[in-house]
This record gives sequence, structure tokens and C-alpha cells, in this order.
Amino acid sequence: MKISDYNFAGKKAIVRVDFNVPLDENGKITDDTRIRGAVPTLKHILDNGGALIIMSHMGKPKGKVAAKLSLAQIKDAVAAALGVKEVQFAPDCAKAHDAAAALKPGEVLMLENLRFYPEEEGKPVGIEKEDPAYEAAKKEMKARQKDFAKTLASYADCYVMDAFGTAHRKHASTAVIADYFDADNKMLGFLMEKEVKAVDNVLSNIKRPFTAIMGGSKVSTKIGIIENLMDKVDNLILCGGMTYTFAKALGGHVGNSICEEDKLQLALDVIAKAKEKGVNLVLGTDSVVADSFSNDANTKVCKSGEIPEGWEGLDAGPESRKAFANAIKGSKTILWNGPAGVFEFDNFCAGSRAIGEAVAEATDEGAFSLIGGGDSVACVNKFGLADRVSYISTGGGALLEAIEGKILPGVAAIQG
Ligand code: AMP
Repeated sequence: MKISDYNFAGKKAIVRVDFNVPLDENGKITDDTRIRGAVPTLKHILDNGGALIIMSHMGKPKGKVAAKLSLAQIKDAVAAALGVKEVQFAPDCAKAHDAAAALKPGEVLMLENLRFYPEEEGKPVGIEKEDPAYEAAKKEMKARQKDFAKTLASYADCYVMDAFGTAHRKHASTAVIADYFDADNKMLGFLMEKEVKAVDNVLSNIKRPFTAIMGGSKVSTKIGIIENLMDKVDNLILCGGMTYTFAKALGGHVGNSICEEDKLQLALDVIAKAKEKGVNLVLGTDSVVADSFSNDANTKVCKSGEIPEGWEGLDAGPESRKAFANAIKGSKTILWNGPAGVFEFDNFCAGSRAIGEAVAEATDEGAFSLIGGGDSVACVNKFGLADRVSYISTGGGALLEAIEGKILPGVAAIQG
């Protein structure tokens, strides 16, 4: 079913959104991109006479109640975003029958963090994979996951999947729940439709040069996409914390910089593969280094492979920034995921800013630029460049898996 064709009048819709928004220490939302992303779907349902049951996860409570990750903290912000007087709150997402049953058209109920229940993720807790009892525990948890999904489904007449950020997970609320609705009563939300189209835009119609910029803290979490992109891109910029795994693999000294010692060979393989495929691999040759992990640390610039003990690389140096901008300039397709430094500290955001500005300039010149992952999106917002890129995705991992060409479970659950 397509959401624009569905008649929500008098219906209760349970909508999986991604309200996993960053909060400061006082529980205040620091970036509401994800809430704004879901508003078109939620408003559409209300405007068409439906009642809303909103469900989401926040953070990683690992199947336990954690007050700091309660969605109660954001319910007023959601009410404001939707322009409704009140968002009712169900403090136990598995015991919301009565609250859901009492909902009238135009009313909104938000369920507590789904991940307070281990059934949401469906992974057994407190048992290691190596344990002989693991397989049995996994089977039992999968059965409990089905029951949990069935409970959630029982609250509503239809199911809308609009959580692109978690669409790469086969969780109770993102995929399993869809089994309890027939094809006429389940659909993707507008955000999901838009995200899937943006990925299609990149993959089906690559205009060259295609430049991918991968940053963030680790190689290990990005290696799948890095290897996959190698078959597609002309330029591959690897920056951020992973710079130092590469610098060390190449025989350099990285001082106290973040470095994955067990990924040195992997880094060398990436370099070899880039050469073999004729991909222009751009690594940060110099860094802004600091004598502590803090915005007020003393700093200096040095080669990324010549960092003295007691110092750590926290940002791309001036030479690297120039090389990144040069690779981005003239690109016609751009994918950016992950910052080039600890951009949260104002003194270490120059590398990410240089990338953001180069991406915006290339977009002005006609490139299609796709920005994904909470941190790169936060960068683009921080630097005031949001209006100068083509598409800002709410997905990090989901976006990367979709770009890898994988069918996301959240999409498959609806589309078969
Ligand atoms: P990820 O979750 O892997 O995409 O990483 C994002 C995080 O990487 C951000 O919070 C950055 O502060 C951090 N990061 C980027 N560059 C560095 C670096 N050189 N050292 C430590 N952390 C970094």
C-alpha cells in the first residue's frame, strides 16, 4: 500500500519513527533533524482523520529500563513539532492496550523506548555467543520477539514504517510487526519513500566523478561500505579517526591517536585494492594534534605518521583539507558519512568544515550530494550548509547498507 493512497479516517495507525535524537546532559534535544523528518507522515495521518501511536527507540539501553533514555523527555517537543496540544505517553510499551483503545481521531499516543524490552532487538541478553546454551536462548528470544511484535500490532489498524535510521535492523517494530498486517494495511512513510528514492538516485544514475567521503572514528564499522564503494567511486576520501590506523599501517607513529591495532592489515588491503581498481584514495597526510582530548588542549600541526607520544590527532591539517577539497571539487556525485575530526570541539572542526564547504560548492556547480549519519548531518547544520547540499539522510548505518545495495529489512517487510 502507498501511504498517499490509504484512507486513515477513523483508523489507528502505529508508526515506527526514528526519534533517536541526541540529548544534552539536561535531556534537551541538541539536533531535531530526525523529529522534523517524521513530521510529514505523522501530520498526514492526523490531517486525514487518523489517530497516531508513535513508537521509537532511543540509544542503547540493552533491554533494560534507563531513565536517561526515556522518550518522555521528548514528548513535548514532538507535540510542538506536530502542532498538537498534547502527546499522551504510555510508560510501558507492552502494556498500552487501554491507552491505544481510548485514542480518538486526531489524538497522539507515544510509547516508551522500545529497547527497554530485549524483545525489540530480539537478541538474547546476558549470554555470550560462545556459550553452548546460546542457540537455544536465541530461539527463545526470537519467539518472544514475535509475541512482542504481535502485541504492538494489536494496538492499531495499520502499520507505517518511517524509521529509516533503523530500517537496516530486523527488529520487532521495524520488520517483524509487519507480519501481523495484511498488505493493504502496511506501508512506508513519506520519509522512508524519500530516503529510498535518494539512494536510488545515487546508485541508478551515477554521474562522474563520484566522490565518497568516509570519516568518523573507526575503520572497523565502515569497512563493508569502504570495500563496496571501491567498485563504484572515482575518489575515496578516508578521514577522521581512521586516518591513524592507516598512518600506523604505513609504518608511521601516531602517538595517542585513536588507532585500531587489529585493523592494520585491513588498512593495507584497502590501499592495495584502491590501487588495483584505479580509485584515487585520499588520506589525511597532516593533522592538528592535541596534548589532551579537550577543546582547550594545546595544539600543533604535524604529519599524520609523525605524531609524538603524548599527542593525538583530532583534526585534519591544512594540507589534508586542501587535498580533500581538491578531490571534491568538480565531483558530480558525492556521498559524505562521518566527520573529519572531533567536530564537536570548535577547535577541531576545521577539517569537517573544509569538507562541508567543498561539498556545498560542488553542489552549487550541479553535483548531487548525499549526506548521511548523525554526525555528518550535525556538521552540515553546525556550519550552516544544510540548504546547500542535495539531500540530508536521517540514516547512518541504514544509508550505508542501502548504498552497498543491500535490501533493508524495514523495506522488505513492507514490500516483500
Ligand atoms: P562514527 O560514530 O564512527 O561515525 O564516529 C563519529 C565520531 O568520530 C565523532 O563523534 C567524532 O568526534 C569522532 N572522531 C572523528 N575524528 C576523530 C579523531 N581524530 N579522534 C577521535 N575521535 C574522532
